[in-house]
Amino acid sequence: MSAQVIDGKRIAGEVRSEVKLEAEKLRASGIVPGLAVILVGDDPASAVYVGSKEKTCAEMGFHSEVHRLPGRTTQEELLELVGQLNRNELIHGILVQLPLPPHIAEKAVIDAISVEKDVDGFSPQSTGNLVIGDESLLPCTPAGIIELIKRSGHEIAGKHAVVIGRSNIVGKPVAMLLLRENATVTVCHSRTENLEAIASTADILVVAIGKPKAIGPGCIKPGAVVIDVGVNRLDNGKLAGDVDYEACLPAAGAVTPVPGGVGPMTIAMLMHNTLKAARRAAGV
Ligand code: NAP
Repeated sequence: MSAQVIDGKRIAGEVRSEVKLEAEKLRASGIVPGLAVILVGDDPASAVYVGSKEKTCAEMGFHSEVHRLPGRTTQEELLELVGQLNRNELIHGILVQLPLPPHIAEKAVIDAISVEKDVDGFSPQSTGNLVIGDESLLPCTPAGIIELIKRSGHEIAGKHAVVIGRSNIVGKPVAMLLLRENATVTVCHSRTENLEAIASTADILVVAIGKPKAIGPGCIKPGAVVIDVGVNRLDNGKLAGDVDYEACLPAAGAVTPVPGGVGPMTIAMLMHNTLKAARRAAGV
């Protein structure tokens, strides 16, 4: 039997439709979810990401503001803007597009976003809430991964989940979310010994390492659900994941393609978080 291809575009579309519908209901009671995105400098990839967030907000019927600031903006000026947005009642979510120019300390800026508006879920307080299981806005890509697994019909509770990668934005939070969903979780990284032996015991394998096609069929337990978070640009201009998709397809039970797997979920979950933040601000 060939593997199920988990269609991230379709599932992200489902999430977006749900968010749009809920936003319409909220608007009827006079509340319009609002997202502010801050872009500093002229990094072309960041400009594309910000543009697509703006477009998706418009589709959702959200209020959106994009603050495009010059690369010479100082940390103090940026912190001042974050402070204003924290106090702005029309804004329920604040997102600072990373990376920031090197003269600005990213951590200081992310820390300055109030936890209620931290729709990226990257602040220490949001991370702490995630770890102790308190109600919080969840980081978008990890939360999107959980939605992909569940909405494609796969059980998480009781399964052995192996996460390869331990970054603060993907590996660690997705491991915490899988634990919260009652999986038994193993986290691997660049210093892990016998990676293949560990990965090949996974019922659910999440790979976020940023190395094109690094994970081969030796890492796949027959029937495993394989979630490939990696986005790597090859020399031929094409995108590839961290998993050798073609080679792993015969062994896996289900697998996400790149592109069209995890990627579309991130922005859908950002919209979900903005809606959630607006609801919480209004107490509904
Ligand atoms: P990162 O910060 O560079 O972290 C990579 C992690 O992988 C580190 O923990 C590293 O271990 C581990 N690692 C590297 N090589 C390894 C190997 N050969 N074997 C085992 N572990 C290895 O990366 P990231 O920000 O988590 O991103 C990972 C990938 O996901 C990238 O391709 C990125 O573009 C993609 N991504 C996609 C989305 C999306 O929306 N689809 C969102 C975020 C990221 P050490 O800790 O020991 O160094």
